[in-house]
Amino acid sequence: MVFILQHDILIVGGGLAGMRAALEASKYADTAIVSKTHPLRCHSVAAEGGIAAALGNTVQDSWEDHMYDTVKGSDFLADQDAVEILVKEAPAAIYEFEHWGVLFSRLDDGRLAQRFFGGYAKPRVCFASDKTGHAMVHELYAQIMKRMTKVYEEWYVLDLIIEDNMCKGIVAWDIPNGKLEVIRAKAVLLATGAYGRVYNTTSNDYASTGDGLALALHYGLPLEDMEFVQFHPTGLYSLGLLVTEAVRGEGGYLINGKGERFMKKYAPEKMELAPRDITSRAIETEIKQGRGINEQPYVYLDLRHLGEAKIMEKLPFVREMCRKQMGIDVVKQPIPVRPTVHYSMGGVATTNEGEVITSELKPFSGLYAAGECACVSVHGANRLGANSLLECVVFGKRAGAAMGNYAKATSFAEIKGDWFPKAEECMRALFSGNGKEKMITVRTEMQNAMTEHCGIFREEKSLKTGITKIKKLQQRYTNIILEDTSRTFNTHLVEVLELGSMLTYAEAILVSALNRKESRGAHARTDYLKRDDKNWLKHTLVYKKNNELAIGYRPVVITRIKPEERKY
Ligand SMILES: Cc1cc2nc3c(=O)[nH]c(=O)nc-3n(C[C@H](O)[C@H](O)[C@H](O)COP(=O)(O)OP(=O)(O)OC[C@H]3O[C@@H](n4cnc5c(N)ncnc54)[C@H](O)[C@@H]3O)c2cc1C
Repeated sequence: MVFILQHDILIVGGGLAGMRAALEASKYADTAIVSKTHPLRCHSVAAEGGIAAALGNTVQDSWEDHMYDTVKGSDFLADQDAVEILVKEAPAAIYEFEHWGVLFSRLDDGRLAQRFFGGYAKPRVCFASDKTGHAMVHELYAQIMKRMTKVYEEWYVLDLIIEDNMCKGIVAWDIPNGKLEVIRAKAVLLATGAYGRVYNTTSNDYASTGDGLALALHYGLPLEDMEFVQFHPTGLYSLGLLVTEAVRGEGGYLINGKGERFMKKYAPEKMELAPRDITSRAIETEIKQGRGINEQPYVYLDLRHLGEAKIMEKLPFVREMCRKQMGIDVVKQPIPVRPTVHYSMGGVATTNEGEVITSELKPFSGLYAAGECACVSVHGANRLGANSLLECVVFGKRAGAAMGNYAKATSFAEIKGDWFPKAEECMRALFSGNGKEKMITVRTEMQNAMTEHCGIFREEKSLKTGITKIKKLQQRYTNIILEDTSRTFNTHLVEVLELGSMLTYAEAILVSALNRKESRGAHARTDYLKRDDKNWLKHTLVYKKNNELAIGYRPVVITRIKPEERKY
């Protein structure tokens, strides 16, 4: 087989994690990014509230305090060695972006401003008004351009080339030109972002379909802690768009139908600044018990008392979004909100250097993962806001360096299989097939099933029903019809492929949730109400074995902080 395309290192995904890894890797070896959307359109661009680091600019702060809050926020499931790396490297990571030109908001004396976020004992979140992701992604992309790193824009990665227990490259569909391509590489990084689109209401963008998870699962590699799905408390009702936590960080209130600040019942000390799992459950409970606004399924997020000047300085995007989407002026009216699927604590299981591990907990040659699609695990059972952008840049950089060293020490492996003809045959079958099932019908049923059976509260019977439904949908997917058979820029084809990915790991989310018989962090079982450290202080691994999903475990790394009761 003749290879037209070849790079030492391939990065799948042009988001914050992928680009940060690419920038680092390109210092060591020839590196390229393959991304189904243009890097400036990745979901990282939508991050609003900020990025955490114990800079101590407004009050005394330390990495130890940042670590404690993160581990407590995770309901003690985070690996503490990984958290220590995260919080220790945080200040340098932020100054690096500042020096590249990110215009972070500032204090009067010129140092970086820091705001409160849920679950932190101190104001620790750096921000560029409420457009932090936008600012960071644009500067990072400028760095990528400066190094002239090759970007295959709008190429959809369909498959990994896995032979001899190692990853040797990828198979991709060039969306604008409608062509299949094989790219050989010594090392491949999965940085494909979130999976919120597997649910029917999410803050995530349309491309957040978790493709990287399906690729790993397909080859028998484990996904870790998939039961922990983060619902953000304040999704704009009923669209699910994010109303950033910065609104509460700046002093916004949550109000129920009786006009009460109900968080005093659920987190008397932290109130609206409790972690997301607790706040989301509180809102859902208020709604379920009939205390939504006018008994409707939403509560109010009220920031009128902050005043127009502060809102325009710190939260201008929130005002613009609410006006455009709902016709609401937040200076004069409260915002209707309800929890929305937001973030995935779980993902492809990795080491602290981003190496993907097998179900035997051994690194798998040539394959790495970073960012939201990976589980390293710094967030455990519940992520604190502003720690994810941080994870992307800290662990993206580390994975880039690890891949660089690996690529320098190895040579290209021979690809033996007929990967290109096989992929061509699959595409031909899809284009000329006479399937009966429509993508939109199967996708809607999947999203509804996940929302109904694996939401904020879970229980055995419902989870089992969810698994049965997803299995039937997987079956129906084999009979899918491609309704648009044009070759170039076929976005319908992309949606069909994404649906295949989602159906693959949707079952893994349900199976992991069914397996964990306790309530911890974002995983709230109504049939097992308590956290159970004796039996469940361990990470879940889910992987394919003989075409079925199997469960394994990985120990939690505990170094400095003993698990304790979690109160706010
Ligand atoms: C609305 C919103 C606000 C947020 N606000 C904050 C915040 O203030 N602070 C914070 O810390 N976190 C925040 N988060 C979370 C954080 O933004 C994300 O976790 C993080 O940006 C994910 O980065 P990533 O690089 O992993 O993925 P992404 O930025 O989503 O990038 C994924 C990339 O992978 C590509 N890709 C996917 N599948 C394929 C495929 N099959 N082939 C090729 N390419 C593929 C995509 O095109 C994209 O370029 C927010 C999230 C959302 C949704």
